Amino acid sequence: MAVAQSFGAAQVVTGSCHMLKIEKGPRILVDCGMFQGNDEEARNYDPFGFNPKKVDILLVTHAHLDHVGRIPKLVKEGFDGTIVATKPTMELARIVMLDAARLMEEEYRTLYRKAQRRGEEKKVRKPLYTTEDVEEVFLRVHLYAKYDMPIRLAKGVKATFRDAGHILGSATVQIDFKEKNRRKSVLYSGDLGNKNDIVMKRIEPVERADTLFIESTYGDRNHKSMEETIREFKDAVIATLHRGGNVLIPSFAIERTQEILCILKQMYLKKELPRCKIFVDSPMAVKATHIFSKYHNQLSPLCNRFYKEDGDIFGFSRVRFVTRVEDSKKINKIEHGAIIIAGNGMCNGGRILHHFKNRIWNPKNSVLIVGFQAKGTLGRQIVDGAKWITIYGEKIKIAARIYTINGFSAHADQRGLIRWIRDIDGLKSIFVVHGEPDKQWVFKKVLKRKVGKKAHIVKFGEKLYI
Ligand SMILES: [Zn+2]
Repeated sequence: MAVAQSFGAAQVVTGSCHMLKIEKGPRILVDCGMFQGNDEEARNYDPFGFNPKKVDILLVTHAHLDHVGRIPKLVKEGFDGTIVATKPTMELARIVMLDAARLMEEEYRTLYRKAQRRGEEKKVRKPLYTTEDVEEVFLRVHLYAKYDMPIRLAKGVKATFRDAGHILGSATVQIDFKEKNRRKSVLYSGDLGNKNDIVMKRIEPVERADTLFIESTYGDRNHKSMEETIREFKDAVIATLHRGGNVLIPSFAIERTQEILCILKQMYLKKELPRCKIFVDSPMAVKATHIFSKYHNQLSPLCNRFYKEDGDIFGFSRVRFVTRVEDSKKINKIEHGAIIIAGNGMCNGGRILHHFKNRIWNPKNSVLIVGFQAKGTLGRQIVDGAKWITIYGEKIKIAARIYTINGFSAHADQRGLIRWIRDIDGLKSIFVVHGEPDKQWVFKKVLKRKVGKKAHIVKFGEKLYI
């Protein structure tokens, strides 16, 4: 019998890492992501729970850090198998992992310097991996998966990637194999997209599978409508520009930045956008936007309309893509009429901090929160109504208007998850992963009620016989 185990994203939302051991067949790992957030981060340094040298194949659903962030560690610890992912996933994963490595290296250098002064440098933990370790990943054998084209993994074992509509290149992954003349089919949802996403296509249905590992990030709720969300966004932008202020948007480099640019472009084309200059002030977002443009045929009909009409999806005359530090600093001189989209998305680092320092004390300006803010981040403090924040050791008053716009999400909500599951024929077992426990319980009950299936919430390392 095949055995499945989860070594991450088990009763938590990060650290996705699922193993499938096929009897007399390969050991397949689906994703190898990083644990994120204050409470979870330390787990990245723990042993995986399996021997990386014995893994034959790594399938990657998409390029978010919580799905790819431990791959360099896997390689460092002896994984020498084949990596399978879509081409855009490989390209995005590279910039995501390099960025993570760079941040860890920087943090290490800072902590080391401080520890040296105390004579305690030996106590400083080395980074999980370095940029050189990331480059090693790309020297491994890899295969590019194409949507809907089964890819042979071993004798009698194949994997099919289908568009998950979550971020560029994202996929659901189905593994088909035979054991003792019985056909088996295990489907991993990865992260499923929001059907109202402006940039991505819709989730592709799966006709048949007998075992499903399903994410449950928003298993307990439905999203606010996209129309309402866009209206809130537009109103906030227009009001701020009309009162002579500037708009600060902390944004994730992948997907959210491109979504925001599409909405601004729509406003511009409909002549709804007041005079302004838009800055995408994040080297990573600039690189990601370039990769999104390159694979425009995998994006939404709206993106393709933009592409057809002016050969550019995200850029237009008002937009400046900023990579160099000097150019980022020049933005400070602009008094009014700037829309600044900068990383990072949760405001716990990156260039958004220097824009906050320069502008968040001024009541004319606005901060638009368009993404999830985890506990313990500066973004969360702002959302929770902090009156003061500390940036680079300096206490700064928050006088800018704060708009928390909740409706943007790259994830399917409860309705979206249920709709996708209902289309799958032949489901015998449903395993719930990638969610917080309280939400998973709600989702489990909903699955029983609306799909008529009993589901199981997967625990870390628990052996599941398939
Ligand atoms: Zn994701």
